[in-house]
Amino acid sequence: MTDPQPPSDLPALRALAAWLQHWLNDVRQAVADAERAAAVEARRPRWWVRWQRRPPGAPRRGILHEEGCWHPGAPDLDAAALRRLLAEHGDRVAACEVCRPSPPG
Ligand SMILES: [Zn+2]
Repeated sequence: MTDPQPPSDLPALRALAAWLQHWLNDVRQAVADAERAAAVEARRPRWWVRWQRRPPGAPRRGILHEEGCWHPGAPDLDAAALRRLLAEHGDRVAACEVCRPSPPG
């Protein structure tokens, strides 16, 4: 398959250039809108950890839940906060077997 060739006459070239510029502006606006929406979504709390009781001095352990889970709790961790929490506690935070949370990538 070959790329379409531009028209050869000047008025048609100008019209095509104007149309492509208009289309490019619309696409760039759509990209900016999508990036803003992704940034808002990344800051929205979607997860929480229900910490378990522990003997004094024992490491903290918890269960990670994601919004929509019926376990007690409410989302208070956005993607960045969850990454920090998982980096600090690692495998001492287990995934809930009910909601099977999907941590941010
Ligand atoms: Zn859960």
